[in-house]
Amino acid sequence: MTIYNFSAGPAVLPHEVLKQAQDEMLDWHGSGMSVMEMSHRGKEFMGIATAAEKDLRELMNIPANYKVLFLQGGAHLQFSMIPLNLLRGKTSADYVNTGEWSKKAIAEAKKFCKVNVVVDNADKNFSYVPAFNTWKCDPNAAFLHYTSNETIGGVEFGWVPETGNVPLVADMSSHILSREIDVSKYSLIYAGAQKNIGPAGLCIVIVREDLIGQVPVNTPTMLDYKIHADNDSMYNTPPTYAVYMSGLVFQWLKRNGGVAAMEKTNIAKAKLIYDAIDTSNGFYNCPVAKADRSRMNVPFTLKNDALDGDFLKQAETRGLLQLKGHRSVGGMRASIYNAMPLAGVQALVGFMTEFAQKNS
Ligand SMILES: *Cc1c(COP(=O)(O)O)cnc(C)c1O
Repeated sequence: MTIYNFSAGPAVLPHEVLKQAQDEMLDWHGSGMSVMEMSHRGKEFMGIATAAEKDLRELMNIPANYKVLFLQGGAHLQFSMIPLNLLRGKTSADYVNTGEWSKKAIAEAKKFCKVNVVVDNADKNFSYVPAFNTWKCDPNAAFLHYTSNETIGGVEFGWVPETGNVPLVADMSSHILSREIDVSKYSLIYAGAQKNIGPAGLCIVIVREDLIGQVPVNTPTMLDYKIHADNDSMYNTPPTYAVYMSGLVFQWLKRNGGVAAMEKTNIAKAKLIYDAIDTSNGFYNCPVAKADRSRMNVPFTLKNDALDGDFLKQAETRGLLQLKGHRSVGGMRASIYNAMPLAGVQALVGFMTEFAQKNS
């Protein structure tokens, strides 16, 4: 039986990439070593890291005045590193609150500065993207932070906030590389790798170089972007195997038409599930406003939640795994990242339709 893994993260990886890693496990390119055993300063691994950065730059069309950093500590550490590095003597920052991940970023930022929550969508239980003309932005803010895809709530921005001179910062953990974006509109983009890139243990930060190097004097060395930038993300030992795996995913993306092709498939995949929900006569419901529904994380509930357990159990017998919704939302959630094949989504939709027919 083919298994389809709908986990929100760590998440599905391209089968082809896992196969390649398996083939190269014991002897990488005739080196006689596994990538796991290599010195991060040796020519083999340096080549792997350089290629990974080059391929990511190409895939996202990252301008030359941006640094690409391969860090650890997850997206969570960025919740602290961002205010530490980007306040640059200022005392307040703007934050958009659209759900669980925004809230965590806000709570951490409050340890460093005054946080001005420019808008939230709590009035409708975090189920939509508030229109930009309702945001109360501060033109003197050190930066504006938002979560461009809320992994838990399933709310995704389809547009970029125009913050003028205020640097724009985005947590793209769960939809980086899933759609085309214009990096030059951002000052900083960050993403934990374990959703849409590679294994856990790596966090990617893309930052405009003129913004770094202005941290407070007592900032720990490891929390200063400039240190990592000046040392090509090798100030300390990087998560070498996670960098290697992510590099393989970048090559896979390039072989398959890059981000533009991926975006097309992602639109088609998401449409299949949302259509199944919307045509179920209320058997399934997605709480997110139609225009703001995530292409990556599809939360949905059953009208009769007494059937939740049966749904999950029967899905599992079909090889459809990890569909249980986040504990804060309940119901189901299907995460359909780049590596989830169309066939996986078709299998899920087939099952959903059948389950609804049998239980209506
Ligand atoms: C998963 C996730 C995080 C947390 O990532 P960690 O790597 O566990 O720190 C932060 N933001 C978003 C949007 C996420 O999806």
